[in-house]
Amino acid sequence: MALRLDGRQLAAELENRLRSVISQGLGRAGRPPGLAVLRVGDDSASGVYVANKAKACARVGLHSRVQHFRADSAPAELLAAITALNRDPAVDGILLQLPLPTGLEEAPLLAAIDPAKDADGLHTLNLGRLLKGEPGPRSCTPAGVMALLARHGIEASGRRAVVVGRSILVGQPMALMLQAADATVSVAHSRTRELAALTRQAEILVVAAGRPRLLGAEHVSPAAVVVDVGIHRTAGGLCGDVRFEEVEPLASAITPVPGGVGPMTVTMLLVNTVVSWWQRTEAEAGGQGSLDHPLADLLP
Ligand code: NAD
Repeated sequence: MALRLDGRQLAAELENRLRSVISQGLGRAGRPPGLAVLRVGDDSASGVYVANKAKACARVGLHSRVQHFRADSAPAELLAAITALNRDPAVDGILLQLPLPTGLEEAPLLAAIDPAKDADGLHTLNLGRLLKGEPGPRSCTPAGVMALLARHGIEASGRRAVVVGRSILVGQPMALMLQAADATVSVAHSRTRELAALTRQAEILVVAAGRPRLLGAEHVSPAAVVVDVGIHRTAGGLCGDVRFEEVEPLASAITPVPGGVGPMTVTMLLVNTVVSWWQRTEAEAGGQGSLDHPLADLLP
């Protein structure tokens, strides 16, 4: 039976670690870390995600505030809110909850976020830093996957990894992080021919295709490590991009859905924010080497 890569358990462990980092830095900072979440429109799934993030902040001791905008808000209004948060000294992380309502472009809004407060790690500058191996906030979902692998002693170095999906949110940064960890990485996408032949080569297979139950036993080689990023609400309940019941008997390790990658994504949002707080408040206190922080192992 495959080892379960339990994201809930690791998220709880990391929340403890974050609490202790916050209590360590609180005296110097004089205030807790602050996360601002911008929600636009009334998409119900987004509402649940935003509420989960606020609850996680409360558990760990971050101060969170949610600003809720109407779906027909003008881009200028959202830009003004982002600019105000960039200037707000009590805000260390800014998150624009995606997807935005139809008609609103996300690129100019994401670009307006101060890269130092980029809680989601999606700013162009921070993606460039990942590409170049420079420190910075990291995309939450792939960073969460790397933390899950590390926690279970799964070495990427020298291994053959396949990432299914090439989105900026998940697939691309995932491939970069695995490559930075010295895996040999291939990326599959919707135009890939003979997907199963490629994915069967994977010792580490990360699936972020956004297609319910796309991959089954025929896609997985024995003893592969399988990470399922997909999450879908269906009539039969939540499922991922992987047919769990077919793949679990073959794999050496596998993430469940729910309870695998999802909780890690939220935790990494907190990590990015706490790191920003640590660095900003150390710089304010005149500390040397303000890029140093106690969570560096979590930002691959
Ligand atoms: P996306 O739709 O932006 O990208 C999907 C990618 O998969 C694309 O690059 C596409 O080319 C590729 N793809 C689609 N069909 C394919 C096929 N048949 N074969 C091979 N490749 C194919 O999606 P995304 O934002 O990257 O998210 C992917 C999934 O992960 C979604 O289910 C999303 O809900 C989920 N997700 C989960 C979390 C989490 O925290 N668990 C976070 C982000 C995204």
